[in-house]
Amino acid sequence: MDKKEALEKLKNEMEADIDLPLYGSANLVFGEGSEDAEILFIGEAPGRREDELRRPFVGQSGKLLDKMLAKIHMPRERVYITNIVKRRPPQNRDPFSEEIQAYTPYLQRQIDIIKPAMIATLGRFSMNYFLPDAKISRDHGTATRINAHILVPLYHPAAALRSRKMFQELEKNFLELPKLLKDAKTV
Ligand code: URA
Repeated sequence: MDKKEALEKLKNEMEADIDLPLYGSANLVFGEGSEDAEILFIGEAPGRREDELRRPFVGQSGKLLDKMLAKIHMPRERVYITNIVKRRPPQNRDPFSEEIQAYTPYLQRQIDIIKPAMIATLGRFSMNYFLPDAKISRDHGTATRINAHILVPLYHPAAALRSRKMFQELEKNFLELPKLLKDAKTV
């Protein structure tokens, strides 16, 4: 089975998993992009627009993510974008830890299929899944090797839309990604 088929199979399995929290209250937003992506971006959870279109990061945060990707000449189609929780929590509340626990085995399988050289987390929920003690204000932009991947925590684009300072930090960290990726591939 090739990577594309493996992802499709995983998606179908998730769709059919009635024990997943938020099943029945929101659509599954599995993720999209290249199955051969070198960078996997992991956000928090879909919002309203994402739920409607069943695509990740297509609202205001997504527009900013697209802009940042354009700055590093990396179109969305060349990376892979997903979320730690793959259904929209009601009123966009923060995901509960039980939701994160239920969805992450699927995220892990997605990572195992794609095998990205770099994982860039967007916001603290996906960062803390990999690095439970990390603090986003301190650790954003700092690369850590985790197994076969380089993990880089980034501010969530929604935070960057609210704060000029976080916008500048997110932009700075994005501009550093190509070099970090190159380094990740040479070790
Ligand atoms: N915010 C997220 O964390 N994920 C999305 O897909 C959209 C907004």
